[in-house]
Amino acid sequence: MADNDAPIRATDNDAAIARLSAVQKGYLVDPYIATLVPRAHLQQPRPPLINIGTYLRSRGIDDLLDAWFRLAGGRKVQIVSLGAGSDTRFWRLASGTHAEQLHKYIELDFAENTSRKAMSIRKSKVLSAALGSPDAVSVGGGGTTLRSPVYNLLPVDLRTPPVVSLEPLLASGDEPLLSPSLPTLLLFECVLAYMAPSASNALVQWFVDYFGSPGSSGLLGAVVYEMFKLGDAFGRVMLNNLKSRGVSLPGAEAYPDIASLSRRFLDLGFTAAQALTLREIRSRYVGPQELRRLSRLEMLDEVEELELVLDHYCHFVGRSDVWGLVTKDQVG
Ligand code: SAM
Repeated sequence: MADNDAPIRATDNDAAIARLSAVQKGYLVDPYIATLVPRAHLQQPRPPLINIGTYLRSRGIDDLLDAWFRLAGGRKVQIVSLGAGSDTRFWRLASGTHAEQLHKYIELDFAENTSRKAMSIRKSKVLSAALGSPDAVSVGGGGTTLRSPVYNLLPVDLRTPPVVSLEPLLASGDEPLLSPSLPTLLLFECVLAYMAPSASNALVQWFVDYFGSPGSSGLLGAVVYEMFKLGDAFGRVMLNNLKSRGVSLPGAEAYPDIASLSRRFLDLGFTAAQALTLREIRSRYVGPQELRRLSRLEMLDEVEELELVLDHYCHFVGRSDVWGLVTKDQVG
């Protein structure tokens, strides 16, 4: 039987290889990513344009998460990463200044990807060490699920109705895995486009309802990194490039312009939203010293193409209820 989802799952490889390339070239610091990239792809440098895009993508999300921790005050927080792939953010947070504030970090992806990641984690002393005592770590579901006191990796097809797919977030002994009473951030890094808008709407709505119900924290935030404007000439080139690799993007038309991302979350019950292109983030929030450092890392010939690419990706931040919207000086 044809596996139509294989090209979608494989986009995770692209993301991980791009990240490793940006690390090897000195754009980013990430001691964990090499452990999660298959050995055959360890030496696949990406062009400067991709390295810069990866830097802005990663840096923007890191800064938004940092702001989220600060806005939560001294409270413990939960992060749910949807379509997490080989992301290393949990390990970077666990070794950073917000480690103590992290109550749960839950990653969801297709079973094939979670089992690959669970295996890599178990094989790596460094990745395993961050999960705590080995006695408190368990692998289940035929190797597709990994649970530990903070970090949890679960196999989920996010297109399945959330009442079914997100059930594991509720059931875990006496307490739900995802507490309704703690500030919680949803992270959608390059995943919404792979899902039909009806499916991702249902997903976001599930979280809005869960955290908006009486007795819950009422504190739900979202950080999204997404392609948009795929209907224009350059967007169509990006779309065709993905299509030629068998990747379909049923969610792509949901974001004809940057405002559509905010509109969509506001329609789903978010109370505030803001989106910025990577180009805006680079020009407004990356300081001159850092820009100089980046410009010395590699020669960039395709300046116009870079600006076009950066114009088609954006970071979005939104809150439901009382989470204060991230302000300019808290980003970048
Ligand atoms: N978020 C990671 C990052 O940015 O490094 C990975 C991004 S990768 C482009 C997209 C990820 O979303 C893949 O790991 C893919 O398997 C996952 N994904 C896409 N559709 C999904 C679905 N319906 N259910 C679960 N995971 C999905």
